Amino acid sequence: MSEYDDASLTSVALAEQHLAGTADSAELLDRYQKSLTGVFGTPQAVLVRGAGARVWDAEGGEYLDLLGGIAVNALGHAHPLISSVISSQQATLGHISNLFTSPTQVALAEKLLGLAQAPPGSSVFFANSGSEANEAALKAVLRHRHSTGKPRILALEGSFHGRTTGALSLTHKPAYREPFGELIGGVEFLPFNDRDALDRAFAHGDVAGIFLEPIQGEAGVLPLDDAYLQRARELTRTSGALMVLDEVQTGVGRTGHWFRFQAVGGVVPDLMTLAKGLGSGFPIGALVSFGEQAGALMSAGQHGTTFGGNPPATAAALATLHAIESSGILSHVNTLGEHLAAALRELPRVCQVRQFGLHIGVDLVPVPGVEAPAKDLVTTARERHGLIINATGETTLRLAPPLNLTFTEADEAMHRLRAAFTDAETRNQ
Ligand SMILES: *Cc1c(COP(=O)(O)O)cnc(C)c1O
Repeated sequence: MSEYDDASLTSVALAEQHLAGTADSAELLDRYQKSLTGVFGTPQAVLVRGAGARVWDAEGGEYLDLLGGIAVNALGHAHPLISSVISSQQATLGHISNLFTSPTQVALAEKLLGLAQAPPGSSVFFANSGSEANEAALKAVLRHRHSTGKPRILALEGSFHGRTTGALSLTHKPAYREPFGELIGGVEFLPFNDRDALDRAFAHGDVAGIFLEPIQGEAGVLPLDDAYLQRARELTRTSGALMVLDEVQTGVGRTGHWFRFQAVGGVVPDLMTLAKGLGSGFPIGALVSFGEQAGALMSAGQHGTTFGGNPPATAAALATLHAIESSGILSHVNTLGEHLAAALRELPRVCQVRQFGLHIGVDLVPVPGVEAPAKDLVTTARERHGLIINATGETTLRLAPPLNLTFTEADEAMHRLRAAFTDAETRNQ
Protein backbone atom coordinates (compact mmCIF):
# COMPACT_ATOMS: atom_id res chain seq x y z
CA MET A 1 0.00 0.00 0.00
CA SER A 2 1.18 3.51 -0.76
CA GLU A 3 2.32 5.71 2.11
CA TYR A 4 0.17 8.53 0.78
CA ASP A 5 -3.59 8.49 0.80
CA ASP A 6 -4.90 10.96 -1.78
CA ALA A 7 -8.53 10.40 -0.79
CA SER A 8 -7.99 11.48 2.82
CA LEU A 9 -5.84 14.45 1.64
CA THR A 10 -8.83 15.65 -0.39
CA SER A 11 -11.17 15.58 2.60
CA VAL A 12 -8.65 17.44 4.80
CA ALA A 13 -8.21 20.14 2.14
CA LEU A 14 -11.97 20.54 1.73
CA ALA A 15 -12.44 20.83 5.50
CA GLU A 16 -9.79 23.59 5.65
CA GLN A 17 -11.41 25.43 2.78
CA HIS A 18 -14.77 25.16 4.52
CA LEU A 19 -13.33 26.66 7.71
CA ALA A 20 -11.82 29.57 5.75
CA GLY A 21 -15.20 30.15 4.14
CA THR A 22 -17.11 30.45 7.40
CA ALA A 23 -15.17 33.47 8.74
CA ASP A 24 -16.84 36.88 8.49
CA SER A 25 -15.22 39.94 6.90
CA ALA A 26 -14.16 41.60 10.15
CA GLU A 27 -12.40 38.47 11.35
CA LEU A 28 -10.69 37.90 7.99
CA LEU A 29 -9.51 41.51 7.76
CA ASP A 30 -8.05 41.18 11.24
CA ARG A 31 -6.24 37.99 10.25
CA TYR A 32 -5.16 39.68 6.98
CA GLN A 33 -3.52 42.46 8.91
CA LYS A 34 -1.62 40.00 11.04
CA SER A 35 -0.49 37.73 8.21
CA LEU A 36 -0.06 39.74 4.98
CA THR A 37 2.64 42.29 4.17
CA GLY A 38 1.16 45.74 4.40
CA VAL A 39 2.02 47.07 0.93
CA PHE A 40 -1.63 47.27 -0.18
CA GLY A 41 -3.07 49.05 2.87
CA THR A 42 -6.43 47.77 4.10
CA PRO A 43 -8.45 45.80 1.52
CA GLN A 44 -11.80 47.39 0.64
CA ALA A 45 -13.78 44.18 1.20
CA VAL A 46 -13.48 40.41 1.46
CA LEU A 47 -14.90 38.90 -1.70
CA VAL A 48 -16.06 35.30 -1.85
CA ARG A 49 -17.81 34.80 -5.19
CA GLY A 50 -18.20 36.34 -8.64
CA ALA A 51 -20.35 35.85 -11.74
CA GLY A 52 -20.09 38.02 -14.84
CA ALA A 53 -20.00 41.69 -13.82
CA ARG A 54 -21.03 40.94 -10.21
CA VAL A 55 -19.15 39.96 -7.05
CA TRP A 56 -20.34 39.14 -3.53
CA ASP A 57 -18.68 39.75 -0.18
CA ALA A 58 -18.51 37.46 2.85
CA GLU A 59 -21.80 38.88 4.20
CA GLY A 60 -23.67 38.31 0.93
CA GLY A 61 -23.46 41.94 -0.18
CA GLU A 62 -23.62 42.22 -3.98
CA TYR A 63 -21.57 44.61 -6.11
CA LEU A 64 -21.54 45.56 -9.79
CA ASP A 65 -17.87 45.46 -10.73
CA LEU A 66 -16.92 48.16 -13.23
CA LEU A 67 -13.23 47.82 -12.43
CA GLY A 68 -12.84 44.14 -13.40
CA GLY A 69 -9.84 43.43 -11.18
CA ILE A 70 -8.15 46.53 -12.68
CA ALA A 71 -8.80 45.95 -16.39
CA VAL A 72 -8.03 42.23 -16.07
CA ASN A 73 -11.33 40.31 -16.15
CA ALA A 74 -11.97 40.80 -19.85
CA LEU A 75 -14.86 38.32 -19.76
CA GLY A 76 -16.04 39.06 -16.22
CA HIS A 77 -15.93 36.78 -13.20
CA ALA A 78 -16.17 32.99 -13.45
CA HIS A 79 -16.74 32.93 -17.19
CA PRO A 80 -17.84 29.35 -17.99
CA LEU A 81 -15.55 28.97 -21.02
CA ILE A 82 -12.46 30.23 -19.17
CA SER A 83 -13.24 28.15 -16.06
CA SER A 84 -13.71 24.95 -18.04
CA VAL A 85 -10.67 25.49 -20.27
CA ILE A 86 -8.39 26.13 -17.26
CA SER A 87 -9.66 23.14 -15.31
CA SER A 88 -9.59 20.74 -18.26
CA GLN A 89 -6.09 21.90 -19.27
CA GLN A 90 -4.88 21.47 -15.68
CA ALA A 91 -6.45 18.02 -15.59
CA THR A 92 -4.74 17.08 -18.87
CA LEU A 93 -1.34 18.76 -18.60
CA GLY A 94 -0.53 21.50 -16.07
CA HIS A 95 2.95 22.89 -15.66
CA ILE A 96 5.86 21.57 -17.73
CA SER A 97 8.62 24.32 -17.65
CA ASN A 98 10.15 25.90 -20.74
CA LEU A 99 12.41 22.91 -21.28
CA PHE A 100 9.28 21.67 -23.08
CA THR A 101 6.52 23.23 -25.12
CA SER A 102 2.84 22.45 -25.56
CA PRO A 103 0.21 22.89 -28.29
CA THR A 104 -1.52 25.78 -26.48
CA GLN A 105 1.74 27.73 -26.09
CA VAL A 106 2.52 27.54 -29.81
CA ALA A 107 -1.08 28.25 -30.81
CA LEU A 108 -1.26 31.32 -28.55
CA ALA A 109 1.99 32.76 -29.92
CA GLU A 110 0.73 32.29 -33.48
CA LYS A 111 -2.67 33.76 -32.60
CA LEU A 112 -1.13 36.89 -31.02
CA LEU A 113 1.18 37.45 -33.98
CA GLY A 114 -1.80 37.11 -36.32
CA LEU A 115 -3.98 39.54 -34.36
CA ALA A 116 -1.09 42.03 -34.13
CA GLN A 117 -0.53 41.66 -37.91
CA ALA A 118 3.14 41.21 -37.05
CA PRO A 119 5.52 40.75 -40.02
CA PRO A 120 7.25 37.44 -40.77
CA GLY A 121 10.05 36.68 -38.30
CA SER A 122 8.13 38.21 -35.36
CA SER A 123 8.00 36.26 -32.09
CA VAL A 124 6.50 36.10 -28.59
CA PHE A 125 8.03 35.62 -25.12
CA PHE A 126 5.58 34.62 -22.38
CA ALA A 127 5.79 35.94 -18.81
CA ASN A 128 3.41 35.99 -15.84
CA SER A 129 2.58 39.67 -15.40
CA GLY A 130 2.83 43.13 -16.91
CA SER A 131 5.95 43.98 -14.94
CA GLU A 132 7.66 40.85 -16.14
CA ALA A 133 6.71 41.53 -19.76
CA ASN A 134 8.27 44.99 -19.34
CA GLU A 135 11.35 43.49 -17.69
CA ALA A 136 11.82 41.36 -20.81
CA ALA A 137 11.38 44.42 -23.05
CA LEU A 138 13.84 46.39 -20.91
CA LYS A 139 16.41 43.60 -21.15
CA ALA A 140 16.04 43.69 -24.94
CA VAL A 141 16.59 47.47 -24.86
CA LEU A 142 19.60 46.99 -22.55
CA ARG A 143 21.05 44.50 -25.05
CA HIS A 144 20.59 47.14 -27.76
CA ARG A 145 22.14 49.79 -25.53
CA HIS A 146 25.09 47.54 -24.77
CA SER A 147 25.78 46.69 -28.41
CA THR A 148 25.24 50.18 -29.88
CA GLY A 149 26.71 52.28 -27.07
CA LYS A 150 23.65 54.59 -27.20
CA PRO A 151 23.29 55.36 -23.47
CA ARG A 152 19.81 56.86 -23.02
CA ILE A 153 16.48 55.18 -22.32
CA LEU A 154 13.35 57.34 -22.42
CA ALA A 155 9.98 57.09 -20.70
CA LEU A 156 7.28 59.68 -20.01
CA GLU A 157 6.16 61.67 -17.02
CA GLY A 158 3.05 60.00 -15.58
CA SER A 159 4.16 56.56 -16.83
CA PHE A 160 3.41 53.31 -15.04
CA HIS A 161 5.29 50.22 -16.22
CA GLY A 162 5.25 48.09 -13.06
CA ARG A 163 6.84 47.48 -9.65
CA THR A 164 9.77 45.12 -10.28
CA THR A 165 13.05 47.04 -10.18
CA GLY A 166 13.54 47.25 -13.95
CA ALA A 167 9.95 48.22 -14.70
CA LEU A 168 10.05 50.56 -11.70
CA SER A 169 13.05 52.35 -13.23
CA LEU A 170 10.73 53.29 -16.10
CA THR A 171 7.83 54.30 -13.83
CA HIS A 172 7.65 58.01 -13.23
CA LYS A 173 5.89 58.44 -9.88
CA PRO A 174 8.60 59.46 -7.38
CA ALA A 175 6.68 57.94 -4.43
CA TYR A 176 7.04 54.52 -6.07
CA ARG A 177 10.74 54.88 -7.02
CA GLU A 178 12.46 57.07 -4.48
CA PRO A 179 12.19 54.80 -1.41
CA PHE A 180 14.52 52.39 -3.24
CA GLY A 181 17.38 54.70 -4.13
CA GLU A 182 19.37 53.78 -7.19
CA LEU A 183 17.62 51.72 -9.87
CA ILE A 184 18.56 51.19 -13.56
CA GLY A 185 20.64 54.18 -14.68
CA GLY A 186 20.24 56.26 -17.84
CA VAL A 187 16.43 56.54 -17.77
CA GLU A 188 15.00 60.00 -18.52
CA PHE A 189 11.36 61.10 -18.21
CA LEU A 190 10.06 63.40 -20.93
CA PRO A 191 7.04 65.69 -20.47
CA PHE A 192 3.84 63.93 -21.58
CA ASN A 193 2.70 64.40 -25.19
CA ASP A 194 5.31 67.16 -25.83
CA ARG A 195 6.57 66.75 -29.41
CA ASP A 196 9.21 69.47 -29.13
CA ALA A 197 10.71 67.77 -26.07
CA LEU A 198 10.65 64.49 -28.01
CA ASP A 199 12.49 66.09 -30.95
CA ARG A 200 15.10 67.54 -28.60
CA ALA A 201 15.59 64.19 -26.86
CA PHE A 202 16.40 62.53 -30.20
CA ALA A 203 18.61 65.38 -31.51
CA HIS A 204 21.91 63.58 -30.86
CA GLY A 205 21.16 60.03 -32.00
CA ASP A 206 22.12 58.59 -28.60
CA VAL A 207 18.81 57.00 -27.54
CA ALA A 208 18.66 53.19 -27.17
CA GLY A 209 14.90 52.99 -26.69
CA ILE A 210 11.68 54.67 -25.59
CA PHE A 211 8.86 53.14 -23.52
CA LEU A 212 5.37 54.53 -24.15
CA GLU A 213 1.86 53.66 -23.01
CA PRO A 214 -0.34 54.69 -25.97
CA ILE A 215 -2.90 55.66 -23.31
CA GLN A 216 -1.54 56.11 -19.77
CA GLY A 217 -3.82 54.00 -17.56
CA GLU A 218 -2.68 54.55 -13.98
CA ALA A 219 -2.30 58.27 -14.74
CA GLY A 220 -6.07 58.44 -15.39
CA VAL A 221 -6.62 57.25 -18.99
CA LEU A 222 -4.55 59.94 -20.73
CA PRO A 223 -4.03 59.36 -24.46
CA LEU A 224 -0.93 60.28 -26.42
CA ASP A 225 -1.85 62.14 -29.61
CA ASP A 226 -1.58 60.12 -32.81
CA ALA A 227 0.90 62.72 -34.06
CA TYR A 228 3.10 62.12 -30.99
CA LEU A 229 3.16 58.36 -31.50
CA GLN A 230 3.82 58.83 -35.23
CA ARG A 231 6.69 61.23 -34.50
CA ALA A 232 8.13 58.79 -31.92
CA ARG A 233 7.98 56.02 -34.54
CA GLU A 234 9.73 58.20 -37.12
CA LEU A 235 12.46 59.33 -34.71
CA THR A 236 13.15 55.84 -33.38
CA ARG A 237 13.28 54.38 -36.89
CA THR A 238 15.64 57.00 -38.29
CA SER A 239 17.95 57.06 -35.25
CA GLY A 240 18.13 53.31 -34.65
CA ALA A 241 16.31 53.34 -31.30
CA LEU A 242 13.72 50.79 -30.19
CA MET A 243 10.07 51.79 -29.79
CA VAL A 244 8.42 49.84 -26.98
CA LEU A 245 4.66 50.14 -26.56
CA ASP A 246 3.36 49.08 -23.16
CA GLU A 247 -0.11 47.75 -24.01
CA VAL A 248 -0.45 45.90 -20.71
CA GLN A 249 -3.66 47.83 -20.00
CA THR A 250 -4.75 48.97 -23.49
CA GLY A 251 -4.23 45.64 -25.27
CA VAL A 252 -6.54 42.67 -25.92
CA GLY A 253 -9.67 44.60 -26.91
CA ARG A 254 -9.85 47.06 -24.00
CA THR A 255 -10.01 50.10 -26.30
CA GLY A 256 -12.22 48.48 -28.95
CA HIS A 257 -9.20 47.42 -31.05
CA TRP A 258 -7.12 44.30 -30.48
CA PHE A 259 -4.20 46.60 -29.66
CA ARG A 260 -4.29 50.36 -29.33
CA PHE A 261 -1.46 50.96 -31.83
CA GLN A 262 -3.75 49.58 -34.54
CA ALA A 263 -5.95 52.68 -34.16
CA VAL A 264 -3.00 54.95 -34.96
CA GLY A 265 -1.99 55.17 -38.63
CA GLY A 266 1.57 54.17 -39.46
CA VAL A 267 2.65 53.09 -35.99
CA VAL A 268 3.94 49.55 -35.54
CA PRO A 269 6.25 49.17 -32.52
CA ASP A 270 9.46 47.13 -32.33
CA LEU A 271 8.32 45.63 -29.03
CA MET A 272 4.88 45.43 -27.40
CA THR A 273 4.05 44.22 -23.89
CA LEU A 274 0.74 42.64 -22.84
CA ALA A 275 -0.72 41.21 -19.64
CA LYS A 276 -3.86 42.34 -17.72
CA GLY A 277 -6.78 41.23 -19.96
CA LEU A 278 -4.85 38.51 -21.81
CA GLY A 279 -5.83 35.61 -19.56
CA SER A 280 -9.23 36.91 -18.36
CA GLY A 281 -7.84 36.81 -14.81
CA PHE A 282 -5.40 33.92 -15.14
CA PRO A 283 -1.90 35.40 -14.72
CA ILE A 284 -0.03 35.72 -18.02
CA GLY A 285 2.08 38.39 -19.71
CA ALA A 286 3.72 38.58 -23.12
CA LEU A 287 6.41 40.44 -25.01
CA VAL A 288 5.72 40.59 -28.74
CA SER A 289 8.80 41.36 -30.88
CA PHE A 290 7.96 42.75 -34.32
CA GLY A 291 10.27 41.47 -37.06
CA GLU A 292 13.32 39.24 -36.91
CA GLN A 293 15.75 41.86 -35.57
CA ALA A 294 13.67 42.75 -32.53
CA GLY A 295 13.18 39.10 -31.65
CA ALA A 296 16.91 38.42 -32.02
CA LEU A 297 17.95 41.06 -29.45
CA MET A 298 18.07 38.31 -26.82
CA SER A 299 19.42 34.92 -27.82
CA ALA A 300 19.27 31.48 -26.19
CA GLY A 301 20.13 31.64 -22.50
CA GLN A 302 19.85 35.43 -22.19
CA HIS A 303 16.37 35.45 -20.69
CA GLY A 304 13.98 32.95 -19.18
CA THR A 305 11.17 32.10 -16.76
CA THR A 306 9.95 29.00 -14.93
CA PHE A 307 6.19 29.53 -15.13
CA GLY A 308 5.83 31.81 -18.16
CA GLY A 309 3.56 30.46 -20.88
CA ASN A 310 2.64 27.21 -19.16
CA PRO A 311 -0.28 25.13 -20.48
CA PRO A 312 -3.08 26.44 -18.18
CA ALA A 313 -2.02 30.08 -18.70
CA THR A 314 -1.75 29.80 -22.47
CA ALA A 315 -5.02 27.83 -22.63
CA ALA A 316 -6.78 30.60 -20.66
CA ALA A 317 -5.38 33.27 -22.99
CA LEU A 318 -6.21 31.32 -26.12
CA ALA A 319 -9.79 30.90 -24.88
CA THR A 320 -9.97 34.63 -24.08
CA LEU A 321 -8.86 35.63 -27.57
CA HIS A 322 -11.23 33.08 -29.09
CA ALA A 323 -14.18 34.38 -27.05
CA ILE A 324 -13.44 38.01 -27.94
CA GLU A 325 -13.03 37.15 -31.62
CA SER A 326 -16.01 34.87 -32.10
CA SER A 327 -18.62 36.90 -30.24
CA GLY A 328 -18.04 40.27 -31.90
CA ILE A 329 -17.10 41.88 -28.58
CA LEU A 330 -14.85 44.55 -30.11
CA SER A 331 -17.71 46.45 -31.74
CA HIS A 332 -19.78 45.98 -28.55
CA VAL A 333 -16.89 47.53 -26.58
CA ASN A 334 -17.08 50.62 -28.77
CA THR A 335 -20.85 51.13 -28.67
CA LEU A 336 -21.18 50.32 -24.97
CA GLY A 337 -18.22 52.59 -24.19
CA GLU A 338 -19.90 55.50 -25.96
CA HIS A 339 -23.17 54.75 -24.15
CA LEU A 340 -21.38 54.82 -20.76
CA ALA A 341 -19.48 57.99 -21.65
CA ALA A 342 -22.74 59.77 -22.55
CA ALA A 343 -24.25 58.76 -19.17
CA LEU A 344 -21.10 59.81 -17.31
CA ARG A 345 -21.14 63.26 -18.97
CA GLU A 346 -24.66 63.80 -17.54
CA LEU A 347 -23.45 63.38 -13.94
CA PRO A 348 -23.05 66.45 -11.72
CA ARG A 349 -19.46 67.58 -11.09
CA VAL A 350 -18.08 65.63 -14.06
CA CYS A 351 -15.92 67.96 -16.14
CA GLN A 352 -14.23 65.58 -18.57
CA VAL A 353 -14.74 62.01 -19.77
CA ARG A 354 -11.94 60.29 -21.72
CA GLN A 355 -13.34 57.15 -23.31
CA PHE A 356 -11.55 54.63 -25.54
CA GLY A 357 -13.75 51.57 -25.83
CA LEU A 358 -14.17 50.40 -22.23
CA HIS A 359 -11.05 52.22 -21.01
CA ILE A 360 -12.63 55.24 -19.33
CA GLY A 361 -11.28 58.12 -17.24
CA VAL A 362 -13.56 60.67 -15.57
CA ASP A 363 -12.39 64.02 -14.18
CA LEU A 364 -14.41 65.64 -11.39
CA VAL A 365 -14.43 69.32 -10.55
CA PRO A 366 -12.61 69.92 -7.25
CA VAL A 367 -14.89 70.28 -4.22
CA PRO A 368 -13.89 72.99 -1.73
CA GLY A 369 -13.09 71.39 1.63
CA VAL A 370 -12.95 67.84 0.24
CA GLU A 371 -9.38 66.65 -0.16
CA ALA A 372 -9.93 63.70 -2.50
CA PRO A 373 -13.45 63.84 -3.98
CA ALA A 374 -12.77 60.86 -6.29
CA LYS A 375 -11.75 58.58 -3.42
CA ASP A 376 -14.70 59.81 -1.43
CA LEU A 377 -17.04 58.88 -4.26
CA VAL A 378 -15.43 55.45 -4.76
CA THR A 379 -16.04 54.64 -1.09
CA THR A 380 -19.64 55.89 -1.15
CA ALA A 381 -20.36 53.98 -4.35
CA ARG A 382 -19.03 50.72 -2.90
CA GLU A 383 -20.31 50.94 0.66
CA ARG A 384 -23.76 52.35 0.01
CA HIS A 385 -24.62 51.56 -3.58
CA GLY A 386 -22.86 48.27 -4.42
CA LEU A 387 -20.69 49.64 -7.21
CA ILE A 388 -16.96 49.02 -7.68
CA ILE A 389 -14.91 51.65 -9.55
CA ASN A 390 -11.58 53.23 -8.66
CA ALA A 391 -9.77 56.54 -8.31
CA THR A 392 -6.44 57.10 -10.10
CA GLY A 393 -6.01 60.54 -8.59
CA GLU A 394 -7.67 63.00 -6.24
CA THR A 395 -10.22 64.09 -8.85
CA THR A 396 -10.07 61.24 -11.37
CA LEU A 397 -12.15 58.07 -11.58
CA ARG A 398 -11.37 55.04 -13.76
CA LEU A 399 -13.77 52.46 -15.14
CA ALA A 400 -12.49 49.26 -16.77
CA PRO A 401 -15.49 46.92 -16.80
CA PRO A 402 -15.56 43.46 -18.38
CA LEU A 403 -15.69 43.72 -22.18
CA ASN A 404 -18.90 41.68 -22.21
CA LEU A 405 -20.80 43.98 -19.82
CA THR A 406 -24.38 44.27 -21.05
CA PHE A 407 -26.28 47.52 -21.71
CA THR A 408 -28.67 46.60 -18.89
CA GLU A 409 -25.78 46.14 -16.43
CA ALA A 410 -24.20 49.39 -17.65
CA ASP A 411 -27.46 51.28 -17.04
CA GLU A 412 -27.82 49.76 -13.59
CA ALA A 413 -24.24 50.76 -12.79
CA MET A 414 -24.90 54.34 -13.93
CA HIS A 415 -28.02 54.39 -11.78
CA ARG A 416 -25.93 53.35 -8.76
CA LEU A 417 -23.21 55.86 -9.61
CA ARG A 418 -25.78 58.67 -9.91
CA ALA A 419 -27.08 57.76 -6.45
CA ALA A 420 -23.51 57.84 -5.09
CA PHE A 421 -22.98 61.31 -6.59
CA THR A 422 -26.21 62.53 -4.99
CA ASP A 423 -25.11 61.06 -1.67
CA ALA A 424 -21.69 62.68 -1.81
CA GLU A 425 -23.28 65.98 -2.90
CA THR A 426 -25.66 65.99 0.08
CA ARG A 427 -22.84 65.17 2.47
CA ASN A 428 -20.62 67.96 1.16
CA GLN A 429 -23.24 70.70 1.48
C1 LIG B 1 -0.73 47.16 -14.65
C2 LIG B 1 0.30 47.67 -15.56
C3 LIG B 1 1.63 47.21 -15.51
C4 LIG B 1 2.10 46.23 -14.45
O1 LIG B 1 1.49 45.01 -14.56
P1 LIG B 1 1.58 43.95 -13.34
O2 LIG B 1 0.85 42.75 -13.87
O3 LIG B 1 0.93 44.59 -12.16
O4 LIG B 1 3.01 43.68 -13.10
C5 LIG B 1 2.51 47.69 -16.45
N1 LIG B 1 2.14 48.59 -17.37
C6 LIG B 1 0.88 49.06 -17.46
C7 LIG B 1 0.52 50.04 -18.52
C8 LIG B 1 -0.08 48.63 -16.53
O5 LIG B 1 -1.32 49.12 -16.59
